[in-house]
Amino acid sequence: MSTNRQYLLITDYTLVLMPTVSYGKFTLEIPVRVKLFIDGEEVSSSKGKTFTRENPAHFDQTIAVVEEASTDDLNKAIDSAREVFDKDKYGWVTNYRQRLRILYKTAEILREEADRIAVTVALENGMPIRQARAHVLAAAEVFEFYAGLADKVYGDSIVLSNGNVSLIFKEPVGVVAAVSPWNFPMTQAARKIAPALATGCTVIWKPASYTPMSAMEIYRALARAGLPKGVVSVIYGPGATVGNDLVKHPKVDYVSFTGETTTGKLIMQQAAAGVKRIGLELGGKNPGAVFDDASIEETVRAIVFGGLRNAGQACGAISRVLVHESVHEKLVNRLAEVAKDLVIGYPLDDNTDMGPLVSKAQEEKVLGYIDFGKKAGFKVALDGGKLSGGIYDKGYFVSPVIFDNVDPRSRLAQEEIFGPVIAVIPFRTEQEAIEIANSVIYGLTASIFTKDPAKALRVARKLQAGTVWINDAYTQPTEGIWGGYKQSGIGRELGLYGLEEFLEIKQVYVDTTGSLDRPHWRTVMKIDKL
Ligand code: NAD
Repeated sequence: MSTNRQYLLITDYTLVLMPTVSYGKFTLEIPVRVKLFIDGEEVSSSKGKTFTRENPAHFDQTIAVVEEASTDDLNKAIDSAREVFDKDKYGWVTNYRQRLRILYKTAEILREEADRIAVTVALENGMPIRQARAHVLAAAEVFEFYAGLADKVYGDSIVLSNGNVSLIFKEPVGVVAAVSPWNFPMTQAARKIAPALATGCTVIWKPASYTPMSAMEIYRALARAGLPKGVVSVIYGPGATVGNDLVKHPKVDYVSFTGETTTGKLIMQQAAAGVKRIGLELGGKNPGAVFDDASIEETVRAIVFGGLRNAGQACGAISRVLVHESVHEKLVNRLAEVAKDLVIGYPLDDNTDMGPLVSKAQEEKVLGYIDFGKKAGFKVALDGGKLSGGIYDKGYFVSPVIFDNVDPRSRLAQEEIFGPVIAVIPFRTEQEAIEIANSVIYGLTASIFTKDPAKALRVARKLQAGTVWINDAYTQPTEGIWGGYKQSGIGRELGLYGLEEFLEIKQVYVDTTGSLDRPHWRTVMKIDKL
């Protein structure tokens, strides 16, 4: 237990002299010691190096001390993953029933412990507790879904016209490097780890440094579920060093990455050296197109949920609202009203709708865009920004800002901000809406709001986005898919497609004739003479 005694906040806003954080029946002693998880053991850094994570809602408070992986630690993690995979240790690669049971058990543990784990997620990420609980349950569902697929990885067989047989085997791709972001720390990791394990791969996972405790919850759940040693190892440290060394490691077969597009490009370059397969889930600048016949109230709710969930720190967030000129004013006014009413406060308060941003760097980035929008002279439909006074002085609290009549070519409408900033852009025609929607480098999600199903489908077909919602936003069925067009990524997560990413396909050609005389052999040798 820490001796670092300091003033800490608990949910009823009283100050206590205890190194703990409390929510309901849960009390967390801080700072939490987060260890590396290598070859089935929780271990310290072999170089004795650690880093800390502060509470984004109370930055004087250190909530975690995390072991940083050295090169030796990384090599040990990779060697153990390699050995399990290459030697089929514990029958990991072949025994899919074992994998199925472990994945189900992991889902069960995460679900049973969701209320407790949500406190950790809220604390380190800044995500409001109501969202954090749903987030943990969503991660549990991903493990459950892929548990159900572990015994359904079927190949194919083709009886050829020459009477022979071509067998198509689906095999695990091998040792997977999983690199994940902080914004949805559990689901983003689950979408990599669960399908990788379902297929029989082994995994080395590097979580984001802002959310080390969520990662610990997942590796502990896996360990409790009976995961054999070395199947999953978890290493912490900076992306530029530890993450980079992991993805370029020659013993890694596949890189599954979620993060910024700029980082994704670096990873692609590193993977190219080893011609490694990659899956990239990258940024977004997602449009929500509101047509003149849309239900304004329903649309506004969808935009507030889609755009401001997790303080807008969401890859699939609606950050551009394209609105038909005839309903423009009505929509913007109502959107501003509803967004203004959001309760911004401590993540561990049930009333909080929006917590702090994840870090100082993120706050500076978001405030920089707000400043840019104001200096550029865009109309401010809802004025917000850095909050101060009381609890706000100690956290990265930024209230929503809505800019209106934004030039679709401006930085505000083109670049991913990753915060509670929405750019409204009016349009006149369906074609214009489509052109503006597609005018960015990204193509992750889009929403269409209209009562006309034919129009909705016509527009959906023309939008360059991996997911298009009609009269909804940010709903992500586990059975569906997630991934982006253009610079939003390569490959797909979730659903059946998310499993395929971790599979290699092998053909085994079987001669059934037993004949020494095959017509195609005669092109090289005259068989009659032999
Ligand atoms: P990031 O790119 O900064 O970091 C993501 C992860 O990569 C972290 O674990 C980081 O330590 C690691 N990393 C950084 N540099 C690296 C390098 N050179 N080599 C290897 N690893 C490296 O992203 P972030 O700030 O953690 O997350 C926010 C971004 O993630 C946003 O752009 C968001 O849109 C995107 N995102 C995308 C999806 C999706 O599904 N498409 C989901 C969530 C987040």
